Amino acid sequence: MSLIAITEVRKRFGAVEVLKGINLDVDRGEVVCIIGRSGSGKSTLLRCVNGLETIDDGSIMVAGAQLVPDAIHLKALRLKVGMIFQQFNLFPHLSAGANVMLSQMVVKKTPKQEAEAMARRMLERVGLAEKFHAYPDQLSGGQQQRVAIARALAMQPLALLCDEITSALDPELVAEVLAVVRELAAEGMTLLMVTHEMRFAREVCDRVVFMHQGRVHEIGPPAELFDHPRTPELRQFLGAHG
Ligand code: ADP
Ligand code: MG
Repeated sequence: MSLIAITEVRKRFGAVEVLKGINLDVDRGEVVCIIGRSGSGKSTLLRCVNGLETIDDGSIMVAGAQLVPDAIHLKALRLKVGMIFQQFNLFPHLSAGANVMLSQMVVKKTPKQEAEAMARRMLERVGLAEKFHAYPDQLSGGQQQRVAIARALAMQPLALLCDEITSALDPELVAEVLAVVRELAAEGMTLLMVTHEMRFAREVCDRVVFMHQGRVHEIGPPAELFDHPRTPELRQFLGAHG
């Protein structure tokens, strides 16, 4: 059974239908990259999977449970599915360690000592063991994004959704964040990620999804999509994103 099962999902904002019947299954341990032009619905799809947007039609199942948009179910869902954004959204007045501890203590009611031990382990996992007491403005963008990853991991999610997590970074900082994601993938984390890093997608993903105008336009293994695009839309997209 798929860890994430998206079936005929539709989403509209006002008169505009942004997701036009999306079908996508993500298996446990699978790494699926979503590519596509700006406005094609990639972020909206991830936000629906994390319950940040409600869907108008279709269904989303996570670990066998139907996504239902009420407070109790959403809380349970967000324990299962972590999300990382382009902007790191760290609390500026809290240290890296405290940022990683906070949601564990607030959402999971984890005791402080335990949350701190987990924060230290997760900061170590993203290569920032020595930055526990550093504040966000003392960290580079790449380091801040790695703290955000540590924060998501500390909740022990079944899957991570990543929405262009390297797009706000200076080019020289992209690699250190992708290296962390690559390691998570190698350790078997289930990942559904929107990315413009085509080389990364080719090397790390099991499957690539090309979204176009609110639909899954092409889907398949990276070698197939990148080397043998079947539609003019994907060919054009790849031409522009080399
Ligand atoms: P992508 O991530 O692929 O760039 P998005 O999912 O962000 O695309 O957006 C898809 C479309 O939905 C765009 O036309 C965007 O303007 C529109 N959209 C996204 N969020 C909202 C919103 N909250 N209200 C109205 N329109 C939105
Ligand atoms: Mg987006």
